[in-house]
Amino acid sequence: MKRRVVIIGGGVAGMQTALRLHAAGIGSVILEKDSATGGKLRDWHKLFPTFTPASEVLDPLRRAVGAAGIEVRTGAEVVGLDGRGAVLADGTRIDGDAVVVATGFTLFDARIKEEYGYGIYDNVLTSADVERMLNEGTLSMKNGDRPRRIAFLHCVGSRDEKVCQRHCSRVCCVTGVKQAMELKERFPEADVFNFYMDIRMFGSGYEEMYREAQVRHNVHFVRGRISEAAPTIDGRIQIKAEDTLTGRPLRMSVDMLILLVGMRANDDNRRLADSASLTLAPSGFVQPADPFLHSVESGAEGIFCVGTVTAPKNVGETLAEAAAAADAVADYLKNR
Ligand SMILES: Cc1cc2nc3c(=O)[nH]c(=O)nc-3n(C[C@H](O)[C@H](O)[C@H](O)COP(=O)(O)OP(=O)(O)OC[C@H]3O[C@@H](n4cnc5c(N)ncnc54)[C@H](O)[C@@H]3O)c2cc1C
Ligand code: SF4
Repeated sequence: MKRRVVIIGGGVAGMQTALRLHAAGIGSVILEKDSATGGKLRDWHKLFPTFTPASEVLDPLRRAVGAAGIEVRTGAEVVGLDGRGAVLADGTRIDGDAVVVATGFTLFDARIKEEYGYGIYDNVLTSADVERMLNEGTLSMKNGDRPRRIAFLHCVGSRDEKVCQRHCSRVCCVTGVKQAMELKERFPEADVFNFYMDIRMFGSGYEEMYREAQVRHNVHFVRGRISEAAPTIDGRIQIKAEDTLTGRPLRMSVDMLILLVGMRANDDNRRLADSASLTLAPSGFVQPADPFLHSVESGAEGIFCVGTVTAPKNVGETLAEAAAAADAVADYLKNR
């Protein structure tokens, strides 16, 4: 009898898991709450570390899902699950032989850090805004001028006890390096500064990008955290920071402040976890059965988890994990 797996979430994690299951002869249905598949990559411009357009990853995945005849239901928000299926917001139940949770992450809402003025002052943007504006070709100051000085601020909504986000989001340092290079290419006359606590370049090719940003693009990296931003009389943004390498306080006026927002756990992880006895880590991400040999298993019978629903990850890690999740599901179905 043909098996069917219910996959919750149609981002890269969900789609790649469905494709790998299909290759193993196992059918699946993808339940996606948005109107289209793709998750966050729909809004990203070019991906670090290779500057590959996000569409070059997303389009082949979507085409392959279509060609494989994998059922995709959009506008299908899942509010509960167990090892044999999922329940949608309208009460419909979708049954299967196993369930994969691939519901991803939520971007930190920069308005919560009021001291940086996001949503209050013009020209304070988030890294996600920059991706969208690069895609739309609209990146400039609010009045259309070209910025002469740009500051990036790392760790906005990550490694921050005050907003209950203690974890490192991992991808924002390298996103800051990538976007600093993109902005320098777009506005070569601008001075670009990155204010960081530590620079975390964990992936292959990331350290090289960091070096290239300094040597080839003349991006300045300042170890220090901006404490506040305030508007100046001439419409710029004054930032106050401390250079923690020299110990000196620093004030600087910039034309654009870009907040590198973190990846946080989805609010509905709690509701989904309660419905299926899944465990959440203190960060709110779903905790896998163990981080080594069972990293894509939830610990609950028939329920698997993949991608950024368990922790911040880049696209490469997410895609690789999808293959592991499909293998684990195939083993589970074989042995049942
Ligand atoms: C600013 C920023 C820039 C980044 N740039 C890069 C980059 O350049 N290179 C790189 O490698 N990585 C990058 N990343 C990381 C990348 O975004 C993630 O690795 C990737 O999005 C993870 O995919 P996912 O499928 O796990 O999650 P998501 O992309 O979050 O997809 C999850 C999907 O599940 C759906 N969903 C959620 N809840 C439900 C529910 N209850 N019912 C049904 N559907 C649901 C969502 O609508 C979404 O479609 C970046 C991250 C950030 C924050
Ligand atoms: S990756 Fe960098 S910017 Fe992001 S939370 Fe970690 S240290 Fe901060």
